[in-house]
Amino acid sequence: MDKKVIHFGYAVTRDRQIDFDANNHEISAIVAAAEPTLKLCISCGTCAATCSAAQFTDFSLRRIILLVRRGETKGLAKEVSKCMLCGKCQLVCPRNVSTRNLIIQISKTLTTFRP
Ligand code: SF4
Ligand code: SF4
Repeated sequence: MDKKVIHFGYAVTRDRQIDFDANNHEISAIVAAAEPTLKLCISCGTCAATCSAAQFTDFSLRRIILLVRRGETKGLAKEVSKCMLCGKCQLVCPRNVSTRNLIIQISKTLTTFRP
């Protein structure tokens, strides 16, 4: 029998537990105070699908918002810096998240915040 492997363009990620309560949620609170639409995101991924930066890197605004809301912000400042602030994501977001300002606020908070 031919055991040819088919690549579907994605990989199954390993299971992991997220200890939500143990994470630091202060950054999320600061960002939400500066840009309340952080709370409107439903992680649909439309922004990531149209993102200019995602064409050249593994950048994903959907993932960044998710990580900020979870309090998993380690190494995120470098990731956020890949955004070109082109605003395409803002045009397509079904929840009217103010994505450009959100990215600016996340970046600002991550670079100034000292836990
Ligand atoms: S398009 Fe809007 S609602 Fe969807 S993941 Fe991006 S920011 Fe969130
Ligand atoms: S503003 Fe940033 S996140 Fe949004 S589409 Fe442009 S490069 Fe991507």
